[in-house]
Amino acid sequence: MKQVILTGDRPTGRLHVGHYVGSLKERVELQNSGQYDEIYIMIADAQALTDNAEHPEKVRQNIVQVALDYLACGIDPNKSTILIQSMIPELTELTFYYMNLVTVSRVQRNPTVKAEIQMRNFEASIPVGFFCYPISQAADITAFHATAVPVGEDQMPMLEQCKEIVHKFNATYGETLTEPQIVLPQNQACLRLPGIDGKAKMSKSLGNCIYLSDEAEDVRKKIMSMFTDPNHLRVEDPGKVEGNPVFIYLDAFCRPEYFAGFLPEYSGLDELKAHYERGGLGDVKVKKFLNNVMQAELSPIRERRKYWEARLPEVYEILKEGSAKAKKTAEKTLAEVRHAMQIDYFADGRMEI
Ligand code: ATP
Ligand code: MG
Repeated sequence: MKQVILTGDRPTGRLHVGHYVGSLKERVELQNSGQYDEIYIMIADAQALTDNAEHPEKVRQNIVQVALDYLACGIDPNKSTILIQSMIPELTELTFYYMNLVTVSRVQRNPTVKAEIQMRNFEASIPVGFFCYPISQAADITAFHATAVPVGEDQMPMLEQCKEIVHKFNATYGETLTEPQIVLPQNQACLRLPGIDGKAKMSKSLGNCIYLSDEAEDVRKKIMSMFTDPNHLRVEDPGKVEGNPVFIYLDAFCRPEYFAGFLPEYSGLDELKAHYERGGLGDVKVKKFLNNVMQAELSPIRERRKYWEARLPEVYEILKEGSAKAKKTAEKTLAEVRHAMQIDYFADGRMEI
């Protein structure tokens, strides 16, 4: 069976380091592993409109920002197809047919939908489009016959819902759609990176992000102002490592070789953590180390972003070509779906229904 990846992001803002460790880094590794026949990376503008209907200009502006972030992280347009969701209307048609295979109560039970409705204060007035976005996500995944979907942990309920739709469709209309598997980061700290304010999730909507496009000095300022263990007041006090964002970021970003370069008096992260827990290690010293680690990780990304920022016409071309290529694949799947559903009227030059 063909190995196919589908994944994506909403163009509601520039991408942040949570996206990087939660999904982007994994995508680049999978892309370069050579184990996948096709890779589709989608800028989900239609999905972003489900809770930004009044701000299409915000979605429009962020399409190129997200594309720049992809290219900056090492997504290679020769190996991966970058597409804009709304340029593939076949996805909308698939969504419409899948809607008949899902109940309202099932979507209401989806934990991610529940949490997001609460976060957006939608309780009394949920846009129908927003409510249906798990179904449209199933259309995106199945349109490309994706076998692997590398995303953050918050997307697990979406993948469950997608699998149910695949089973229901295949059971009703015959074997047509492909069941996808979620690919989560191996590193626990990357599953849901907290914000610099210590809140459970770094998120564009919460304003607690370090962006991939932030300048070095902004990154340093954000790190130095980061939330740590509130009870670690003096250097000699014992500190807590669990739930401490500074150490979670070190778990997510630090490589063993950074100790030799930036903090040679420690053999590795375990020794640093033990010292912090024992007392005698100040937050400033740990933050300075984290800053060095983050700068080492982010500076090649920042430089590649600048390279592409100076070549915007090429970026537009990548998006146009990628969307056209993706449309071809989605057209083929839609034809298979219509055939399975027996609504492929007059297909193949037939003269009667
Ligand atoms: P919004 O606030 O608009 O929903 P977001 O920051 O949650 O934006 P999305 O575009 O919804 O970003 O998510 C894109 C991808 O990044 C998803 O796969 C999601 O699981 C992953 N992701 C987002 N935030 C984090 C995080 N803090 N840690 C790990 N993965 C994340
Ligand atoms: Mg989100």
